[in-house]
Amino acid sequence: MDLLNTLVDKGLRRELPTREEALAVLATSDDDVLDVVAAAGRVRRQWFGRRVKLNYLVNLKSGLCPEDCSYCSQRLGSKADILKYTWLKPDQASEAAAAGLAGGAKRVCLVASGRGPTDRDVDRVSRTIKAIKDQNEGVEVCACLGLLSDGQAERLREAGADAYNHNLNTSEGTYGEITTTHTYADRVDTVRKAHAAGLSPCSGLIAGMGETDEDLVDVVFALRALDPDSVPVNFLIPMEGTPLAQEWHLTPQRCLRVLAMVRFVCPDVEVRIAGGREVHLRTLQPLALHLANSIFLGDYLTSEGQAGQADLDMIADAGFEVEGAGETTLPRHRATAAAQGGCGSHGDADGGGCGAHAGADGGGCGSHADGGGCGARGDGGEGGVRGSAPVAAPASGPAAAPAVPAGARAAGEARTDLVTFRRRGAGTDLAPNA
Ligand code: SF4
Repeated sequence: MDLLNTLVDKGLRRELPTREEALAVLATSDDDVLDVVAAAGRVRRQWFGRRVKLNYLVNLKSGLCPEDCSYCSQRLGSKADILKYTWLKPDQASEAAAAGLAGGAKRVCLVASGRGPTDRDVDRVSRTIKAIKDQNEGVEVCACLGLLSDGQAERLREAGADAYNHNLNTSEGTYGEITTTHTYADRVDTVRKAHAAGLSPCSGLIAGMGETDEDLVDVVFALRALDPDSVPVNFLIPMEGTPLAQEWHLTPQRCLRVLAMVRFVCPDVEVRIAGGREVHLRTLQPLALHLANSIFLGDYLTSEGQAGQADLDMIADAGFEVEGAGETTLPRHRATAAAQGGCGSHGDADGGGCGAHAGADGGGCGSHADGGGCGARGDGGEGGVRGSAPVAAPASGPAAAPAVPAGARAAGEARTDLVTFRRRGAGTDLAPNA
């Protein structure tokens, strides 16, 4: 396919595809999905080999958020049956982090619900970062605390934080339909603050909230302009008790196309499969490792993932390897730029570079598309493209589709059976899943 050959060539050169090319990836058919994966997989291997970075979420403060992000199970008015608790103590957070690190994670993501931290919260998280770093040499710590005020990013950096996550989540054009209590521009501002303070910027999206293909391409291009080092891709987990509980439209093939598009647009960036991996990719998860070079180990913020050992087995069986603590995640050109305090990445290939940040203005807390909230792996559920929900085949007539065998499921069917609210790890007396 000419499209895929062109995109591979561009990806190997770190060259930005056109919007039309990105849209064309999303428009490919299920018949072509293996060709799409193979093509994007070449770009992934060029910049990240067969390494898979494992990240581990610690939900420092769960639920009771005053914001109204529709996808989030921790939102104002959420009826989702999630754990609710206030700030973990530093030693409690460190204990949870240690479980993830022992399971093979190299980055710990400290997430707290809420609009943004107070200065006292920043002090509290700073003590937690110190406790984790004191007890785990070489660990990377990413904070995800919502919208940052002036000076807070610098204080987190001084406390030892390596990265800051704040997701744009969706396009600027649709942001107001998802959240009304803060704006896309607020989110962009926080990503820029983190970047300016020397924190490795992590910012991603949630697919499956009813957005169009154009919205998805808009947000991925906006992310690329912000020049993050890592891009978490969440697939909405439509959680009962949230406004998006009915948004079950994603299919495994659709998720693969979204990941491939992100890889082509951000070829040398850490692309992480975040919330919704198990729920939406299901048995096709191993194929997604050919596109993303990073996943979360174990559980999400408010929902449970598959067993940590299952994550490790999947990586090994698919022929990939867990990235070691001593290995550098980013390709040399990006890692060098980051170490020098520069922006990063796409620079020479597309004329982007630091100045590219000026172009995008989106932002927002988090990443936990698993419906989890601010952070990273939302337990929220996977969404589909507006109007793209599968249409049931006619039940009779000469052109009727073959009957679905007993036990088989239709594409895009609700899989509430796969959504389990987290009841272990941080905030409970039970051991974490790692
Ligand atoms: S995503 Fe973050 S800010 Fe939004 S409702 Fe959830 S916890 Fe609150």
